[in-house]
Amino acid sequence: TAPIVELSHVEVNFKKKAGLFKKADYVNALHDINLSIYPGEVVVLVGESGSGKTTMANVIAGIVQPTSGKVFFKGTQVPKMNQEQREEYRSRIQMVQQDSYASLNPMRRMIKTLGDPLVIKKYSDKKNVEEKVSHFLNTVELTPPENFLQKYPHQLSGGQRQRMLIARAISMNPELLLADEPVSMIDVSLRVSVLNLLAILNQRDNIAITYITHDLATARYVGQNGRIAVMYLGQIVETGNLQEVLSNPQHPYLRALLAAVPIPDPRVARQPRETNIKTMEEIEEGIPHGCRFHNRCPYCKEICKEKKPVMEKHGFSMAACHRIAELPPFSLYQASRKE
Ligand code: SF4
Repeated sequence: TAPIVELSHVEVNFKKKAGLFKKADYVNALHDINLSIYPGEVVVLVGESGSGKTTMANVIAGIVQPTSGKVFFKGTQVPKMNQEQREEYRSRIQMVQQDSYASLNPMRRMIKTLGDPLVIKKYSDKKNVEEKVSHFLNTVELTPPENFLQKYPHQLSGGQRQRMLIARAISMNPELLLADEPVSMIDVSLRVSVLNLLAILNQRDNIAITYITHDLATARYVGQNGRIAVMYLGQIVETGNLQEVLSNPQHPYLRALLAAVPIPDPRVARQPRETNIKTMEEIEEGIPHGCRFHNRCPYCKEICKEKKPVMEKHGFSMAACHRIAELPPFSLYQASRKE
């Protein structure tokens, strides 16, 4: 099967805000990104804030243009698409953002928020729009729909607003939903139900899901049958089948992330564990040469400071690290110690 979207050697540079007398500078937000997303699959993008995962989603959705490299939608390079392909691209890839409050117009009732795009796109005529909107409200389990049609965003809970965003996205008949931290701003008790809704849309309606998060627990939940791409400072450092990668992580960054996750076993939790990785603030000076993780990596050697590692097959993963073959086998308790 052909991918819905394909990123090939994508680079994105953003201009840093220049101070009054400072020279403008560039931040390399994405570096050499290669990623294909296939129909019906789940891909989880994991990384800390500043890792470039939201920029990547924006590139996939066509909101940010790459500085170099290519983006293809169904085999056609995005800038070369004709008007019809461009419209299809805009409809088939839909984004669900984390801040549902900011993403919904506070002055519009739900019937307008959902109904107007359906009429504009000619997915519905004005006469049947209420029926159509009710159908999508039912799909996202906002039932009975009559209770929601006339509501404004402030009259809904965070979980309900998130469902509205999902309803608006699926009303465009998408093949790919880009869900950017969709549950990070809603109550913990409601998160699972929103994640389950994404799983239903994936399994029942075969909509591909790209789930973007900093949180490994929800990544594991959403991506159990999918792939993972772990991002660090604008690069994918490890990728593969999610279950296999998380049970056998190769890259020191992913090992450190996994070691930092609290373990729900009281005997284990009492064991002292040091993570040994520095915080993002400590590397603010700029993007390091060689391996971008070398300032924080407990296994760093001279080669890491000089030479950029490339993605290679290691176990079940593709990972970019010079020293994977020399690293001790992964165990949660040793993951972050120096050899
Ligand atoms: Fe650490 Fe070196 Fe591997 Fe980078 S290349 S992750 S610094 S061991």
